[in-house]
Amino acid sequence: MAYAYDDQNIFAKILRGEIPNNTVLETEHTLAFRDISPKAPEHVLVIPKGPYVTFDHFCNAASDAEILDFTRTAGQICKMIGAEPGEGGAGFRAITNAGEDGVQEVPHYHLHILAGRPLGPMLLMR
Ligand code: 5GP
Repeated sequence: MAYAYDDQNIFAKILRGEIPNNTVLETEHTLAFRDISPKAPEHVLVIPKGPYVTFDHFCNAASDAEILDFTRTAGQICKMIGAEPGEGGAGFRAITNAGEDGVQEVPHYHLHILAGRPLGPMLLMR
């Protein structure tokens, strides 16, 4: 089954400038902005500008230029928030949720970058 992109999702509206966002960094193919409901002192969402639904969709369908731009932008964000462990930062967590089991709320691929406090175990075991 092919991915169907819903162009009425909230991040599509942000990309079209229909609703505001707190931009941290914008490049040709990528936008990084602050999460409206931060789960850590630093909580930045990195999204491709193209219509990709999930991480796997982006990895499999995006162009090399989009993937390179996205990855470099995510790296820049880690730098900008001072979280790089190799540069004296205390670290971060990069998470992407996909689909039903991943509990994805917004159907436009996004990478959460969280930092600024100890982030605890990766997953709660239930
Ligand atoms: P998901 O559960 O899909 O991985 O994460 C969606 C994220 O988008 C949540 O962390 C939520 O707080 C954030 N979010 C939802 N609506 C908006 C919005 O209008 N603006 C911003 N900046 N973040 C949003």
